[in-house]
Amino acid sequence: MASIFSMIVAGDIPCYKVAEDDRHLAFLDINPMAPGHTLVIPKREVDYLFDLPEDEYVALELFALKVAKALKAAMPCVRVAEAVLGMEVPHAHIHLVPINSESDVDFRHKLSLPGDEMASIAARIAAEFGK
Ligand code: 5GP
Repeated sequence: MASIFSMIVAGDIPCYKVAEDDRHLAFLDINPMAPGHTLVIPKREVDYLFDLPEDEYVALELFALKVAKALKAAMPCVRVAEAVLGMEVPHAHIHLVPINSESDVDFRHKLSLPGDEMASIAARIAAEFGK
């Protein structure tokens, strides 16, 4: 069975998309640690990030670099944190989280934001990504 993220790639499940190219997709985490918390994935389903072939791993990180720059421009913060867990969804992904202090990275602290706010945040990041 396809992962939930493959269903998002296929358009079978909606997401708040922030960026895309032929091999990668970035969209808002449904339960963000902070507004703008973004997931960056390869469209090809591979469970564990560090099982990706080197070229695909590097391409994913280069895509994440561009997303992180757009995220920082759209959601002013001290840093954009990058994290890898993969404990919940078996489809490789990178978390990008706008943070102002170390304590902002806490996977036990998740938000549920209204849909219109998520859509507006995604649009802001997408606009920066497109510049
Ligand atoms: P991890 O696998 O790295 O432990 O966490 C997976 C992340 O994916 C979680 O932060 C969770 O909130 C997010 N997530 C799980 N299901 C969905 C979904 O259907 N849509 C989106 N946008 N995010 C999801």
